[in-house]
Amino acid sequence: MRSVRQILDGKDTPLVTVGPDEPVLDALRRMAETSVGAVMVMEHGNLVGIFTERDYARKVVLQGRSSATTPVRDIMTSPVQTVTPEHRARECMQLMSDHRFRHLPVVEHGTVMGVISIGDLLKTVIADQQNEISQLQSYIAS
Ligand code: AMP
Repeated sequence: MRSVRQILDGKDTPLVTVGPDEPVLDALRRMAETSVGAVMVMEHGNLVGIFTERDYARKVVLQGRSSATTPVRDIMTSPVQTVTPEHRARECMQLMSDHRFRHLPVVEHGTVMGVISIGDLLKTVIADQQNEISQLQSYIAS
């Protein structure tokens, strides 16, 4: 199965970030503009948290907070579980399943290189299986 580096190389989604003191509304706007479900919360170049649509639903809407005045810091999840480009897709799926989340930032030498989502992993698994089927079909036909 593919490595995280290979998956990231095949993606053109930009890294979407927000500062911890910015309002949740700004984070939501950025997520909508870029069609992503999670933003990385960065402070002084460091990854300090993650904010996803699920955090908005559970910690803002359900708790009656205002997205215009609540800073991302108050509802982000920290610390963040990360992977390196050397991790394999299977390991990422295991982490997501164990922790019940759908996003994994990829960090190399302290720099956030991108984010792997459960959708990216699904696409990888389907492509790998399709390859395997094609190889078996040509083997049977030969
Ligand atoms: P998600 O399923 O990715 O929308 O996230 C579900 C919950 O887990 C939310 O509270 C997120 O902030 C949190 N979360 C998502 N990804 C991570 C991660 N890589 N490390 C830590 N928490 C995360």
